[in-house]
Amino acid sequence: MKKLFSVCLDFIFPRHCCVCQQHLSASNYRYLCDSCARKIIFPSANLCQRCGYDFGADCSEGSKLCPRCLGQEFCFKSLRSAVRLSYVTRNLVHQFKYKNGDYIVYDLCKIMRKNAHFMAFIGGSTLVPVPLHWRRKFLREYNQSELLVRHLAKFPINSKVLHLLKRTRHTRPQVGLRATERRSNMQKAFAINPKIKIPLDTRLIVFDDVLTTGSTINECCSVLKKHGFSNILAATFAQVSRD
Ligand SMILES: [Zn+2]
Ligand SMILES: [Zn+2]
Repeated sequence: MKKLFSVCLDFIFPRHCCVCQQHLSASNYRYLCDSCARKIIFPSANLCQRCGYDFGADCSEGSKLCPRCLGQEFCFKSLRSAVRLSYVTRNLVHQFKYKNGDYIVYDLCKIMRKNAHFMAFIGGSTLVPVPLHWRRKFLREYNQSELLVRHLAKFPINSKVLHLLKRTRHTRPQVGLRATERRSNMQKAFAINPKIKIPLDTRLIVFDDVLTTGSTINECCSVLKKHGFSNILAATFAQVSRD
């Protein structure tokens, strides 16, 4: 019955792949064709132990940290991303964030579930979405990180969502800013939500949609660390490649 209903719905409102616009009659995803889905790049097993940067094949034997992590102290113990940001995932994220694409969240979660290492990493944790300032949330109508963790927590991974952080001021968009500008743009942008009381050794995972330089997520983790939390990790849907 459910299948018949969705067939009828597809007849009235035909679906298209949001990356290549191809008409979707049968696909494993709601808004992504199988051909685009095959182009998604999952990280190799050869990762920077801190930020999850994918060394791929060009890693010197024994390297554990990437050049960025050797030169910068992050406030999270480690970070993992489900996919690499590529043509397909960049399009998906763009549609999700800037084109009222909240309906894409189902496909994004399905993609994340394909990465078993990533799901094991976020399992058994308290997921803390990076908060949006109310002004941006009002314009976008949803916080993309919050939407992602809310759907992820529905899977049997024994994780829950907690709004442990709040935005204290509006910041200009990070897109187009250099690494140092991104860091100063994010300073004092977050604070602890004083209404929530949990043990300080809770396994926390700060969650965002994309990791670029890490300044937003690191600022969130720094607030948690200053508050006394001792088990702080981070995760994102995608991570920007540096090659
Ligand atoms: Zn496609
Ligand atoms: Zn790294």
